[in-house]
Amino acid sequence: MRPKVLLLGGVSEALAMARHLAAEDIYSLAGLGRVPQDLPCQVRVGGFGGAEGLARFISEAGIQVLVDATHPYAAQISANAARAAQLAGIACWALRRPGWQAQAADDWREVADWRELIHTLAPFQRPLFTLGREPLEHLHEIPEHQHWTVRCLQQQPATPRAEIIGARGPFSLESERELFARLQCDVLISKNSGSAATDPKLQVARERGVPVLVLRRPELPAVDREFSDGQSLLAALTARRLG
Ligand code: NAP
Repeated sequence: MRPKVLLLGGVSEALAMARHLAAEDIYSLAGLGRVPQDLPCQVRVGGFGGAEGLARFISEAGIQVLVDATHPYAAQISANAARAAQLAGIACWALRRPGWQAQAADDWREVADWRELIHTLAPFQRPLFTLGREPLEHLHEIPEHQHWTVRCLQQQPATPRAEIIGARGPFSLESERELFARLQCDVLISKNSGSAATDPKLQVARERGVPVLVLRRPELPAVDREFSDGQSLLAALTARRLG
């Protein structure tokens, strides 16, 4: 018999997978981004109330396979998924997208958290932040010798010492080249998402000899099966359905 799937989304591969789910399957989103209206499966939006809430949802909805296709830095929901699947006694499969690898000409410096990031940033003057909303909470702490540019999903007005660019990837190589040239940024700050939609910035940093401060990936829990891409996860789901 085919298993009923709960797919936890949050990255583009998850949406691509959701397009191949069946009518009884469920695609789940946290509710921060756009909610697609054209999927063949059910869509639910919002948290479950921790691992226990997710386990309850799994049991009540008769879910047989939980698929964690959330962002590599969304550590809480991934931990909840692994725990909830255990509690509910079902399999947890996960998309674990490989990180980007530095190349010979790259100057990447890994930082563990915001505190270490700010410390490492001290010698620079024109940082470009591309790691989400967190810098917006620190705009009042910008040192006098720095001017920040923050690119994130949220658009908001510039301040005297910061420009905020509201934008959603993918970003082309050409547009990233133009952005770096306009800003004259001397350091790039990034998560290591491993996404092809946002990696042109790394090439431009390489071309311009701009160092990259990379926020370390969080630890994610072990699950029953891990896949490095959505296609192979989908193929395994299909095989399980047929088997
Ligand atoms: P997080 O810290 O790991 O999760 C926070 C809470 O959001 C979870 O405990 C859960 O609430 C709820 N949640 C997260 N993903 C969910 C999903 N797919 N369906 C239902 N509830 C979900 O996550 P985050 O870093 O804030 O990211 C939120 C969402 O944005 C995730 O789905 C993630 O994949 C996506 N995203 C994150 C990043 C990033 O850099 N962190 C980047 C791009 C996209 P309950 O405990 O109440 O269930």
